[in-house]
Amino acid sequence: MAERGAEVLRAPLSVGDREVIVSASIGIALQTPHRERTESILRKADLALYRAKAAGKARWALFEATMETDALERLELEADLRQALERNEFRVVYQPIVSLRDGRVVEVEALARWQHPVRGHISPAQFIPIAEETGLIEPLGLSVLEEACRQAVRAQTEVASAQSLVMSVNVSGRQFQAPGLVDQIKRVLAETGLAPNQLKLEITESVLMRDLDGTIDRMKALADIGVRLAIDDFGTGYSSLSYLKQFPVDTLKIDRSFVDGLPSDPQALAIVRGIVALAEALDLSVTAEGIETSAQQEQLRDLGCDRGQGYLFAKPLPAAQLADWIARRSSFGSADLERSAA
Ligand code: C2E
Ligand code: MG
Ligand code: MG
Repeated sequence: MAERGAEVLRAPLSVGDREVIVSASIGIALQTPHRERTESILRKADLALYRAKAAGKARWALFEATMETDALERLELEADLRQALERNEFRVVYQPIVSLRDGRVVEVEALARWQHPVRGHISPAQFIPIAEETGLIEPLGLSVLEEACRQAVRAQTEVASAQSLVMSVNVSGRQFQAPGLVDQIKRVLAETGLAPNQLKLEITESVLMRDLDGTIDRMKALADIGVRLAIDDFGTGYSSLSYLKQFPVDTLKIDRSFVDGLPSDPQALAIVRGIVALAEALDLSVTAEGIETSAQQEQLRDLGCDRGQGYLFAKPLPAAQLADWIARRSSFGSADLERSAA
């Protein structure tokens, strides 16, 4: 029935002298044997509808009990998230990014952590989308940016080998589109004293493709103040390759899902090789995410990938350990460290 309904709705409509095509998302809930109230069934259908839309629109979804618990949990998290900022429950951790050529730490990625008073650690994969939807990502993102820039300057002053360290900060779609972003970044750089070319902003590939002209303007405005730009999770978001060369980016980050397949999966290998070749042709540098084994590290280096990030080198570290980790790594030599980590 749902498919027949959708089919009928898909027929083009004439509005004035234009042809309009609409699609429908459909949520379905079934009456239970104990005659549930209409409002309750509609609410369930609405939850299923929400799921159908989230799965990419123009499809149908059937209500399942887990949708109710998921929705409840999300509502609770949303309420808690609002208080979490005031209660100072967020932390920033830092994951080193090393040169695959000589093992030096060249960059660090700042990653947000939420320590919930009752639930404990909550993954950013869970709370960032909620923060994005509610708008809380703007104050949260700003506080991550400020903290990360402060820590970068601290590491640079404390450790001689960290003087040209670049700090990479994730910027969500909503943050990227916020009109005040450029001024905010200028202010944070001025306040913390971090050089603009030592800050890199990571923007997820799927965000860039939403509004291409707007994206290019915003990226140019950021590049004009001298900060670097990276495309995060590259390979997962259908980049328009013809636009790629118009973006003033300097780094592609190969998504972990591809690195995962190395060294044995021929498809993963072909994709990684393709991305590295593309980057080379466009004069971009490449960072591979999620390197966990030395076999992956070696293969990526042989393929010509510039930098790597992953548990093989280090898990994300609390700020207090960052400077020390960089200092130890530069004095020990990287090969020894990898061997001891393995
Ligand atoms: P991302 O920016 O792609 O970050 C890389 C993720 O991979 C991090 O997960 C990191 O801990 C994880 N990772 C790194 N190496 C390995 C490895 O060897 N193996 C495995 N299994 N995982 C590895 P995390 O910290 O959970 O963050 C998840 C995502 O949440 C990030 O993906 C980013 O998109 C988002 N995120 C985190 N912090 C922020 C933030 O401050 N602002 C925004 N807008 N997004 C953030
Ligand atoms: Mg990132
Ligand atoms: Mg990524």
